[in-house]
Amino acid sequence: MSYISLLQAFSEDIFPKDYRQACDLWQEALHRLSATHHQNDFTLDHVQELRCQTAWVGPDAAPKVLVLISGTHGVEGYAGSAVELDCLRQLDTGLLHLPPDTALLLIHALNPWGYANYRRCDDQGIDVNRNFIDFTQPLPENPGYLELQPLLGIVDSAVRERAIHSFRNRVGQREYEIAYSGGQYADPDGPFYGGSGPSFSREVIEGLINGFRLSERQLAVIDVHTGLGPYGYGEVICDHPADSGSVRTARQWFGPGCGLPDRGTSCSVPKLGLLDYGWHKVMGSESCFVTLEFGTLGTDSLFAVLHDEACAWRGGVPDALSKDEAGARMEAHFNPQDIGWREAVIFRARQVIQQAFQGLSGNSGAAK
Ligand SMILES: [Zn+2]
Repeated sequence: MSYISLLQAFSEDIFPKDYRQACDLWQEALHRLSATHHQNDFTLDHVQELRCQTAWVGPDAAPKVLVLISGTHGVEGYAGSAVELDCLRQLDTGLLHLPPDTALLLIHALNPWGYANYRRCDDQGIDVNRNFIDFTQPLPENPGYLELQPLLGIVDSAVRERAIHSFRNRVGQREYEIAYSGGQYADPDGPFYGGSGPSFSREVIEGLINGFRLSERQLAVIDVHTGLGPYGYGEVICDHPADSGSVRTARQWFGPGCGLPDRGTSCSVPKLGLLDYGWHKVMGSESCFVTLEFGTLGTDSLFAVLHDEACAWRGGVPDALSKDEAGARMEAHFNPQDIGWREAVIFRARQVIQQAFQGLSGNSGAAK
């Protein structure tokens, strides 16, 4: 059974030029839709009209829901917008059809400020994808980051790079990546900062989970990201505990190539405070949350671009880029201007969405 057309040509204009065009294109596509749907926008900022748009498509009482999320990391939203727009257009033209017991929940531009400002963090400097911790408990520690932090602050770039290189050689690549990107709660100006309280985007997610009573339904959640892993490859990353029922479900639906950071079989390392964990709490073993991560220019480029843009926004750093220059570099890293990369994104996303629909239907291709 096919739910989505894999080979339908797509127009490159589904990759938006910026956040505002992304919102407009998404809105137009939703308006055209004849299928039953409800829209609910979550406004962050009335001055700049920054908002996260959401739509529920299909029956209100559907026992199964496919959730698509874009823009968790702001500037990574281009690919996720294109994937959602592709879905809406396929629904409109009848190339994508929802099974009668299944709804589609689209969450577009979850971190609108980051998207609009070419940043990965939100307006509070929070990495939304490190923000899902229990703030009533002592904040988690990342001892590797505390070692790395003074090295990141070295102003002379050649000296800084040598110091970081030597740290990486000493602890190994995996521990280096955990130290750098695993999440930290001690340095609000630093990278991958998880915040000191729930972010706007976290409140949106928790509002949707409660409002649609998603804990009572079977869920397939796909959160689209870019910037990590081999160029053009879309890795399905599963951060459920490695021996859990949801990992078995994810591997059954998405195949054995599903990456498990817990087991060291992913381009991503284990991380604190992931958005995933907010969903895991409401999921049974027949549901799963996966990140669909599209690789671009590699981890060294990722860290370098993030370092330079953080300096640009902090202000007062000698020889820092302007915010516009930093934004252009962020866009170049997270949204390559390359039709080949974009084709790879759309084709792979359609595959993964198809696998999720088949999995929810109990007719998983990988299980046969
Ligand atoms: Zn990301």
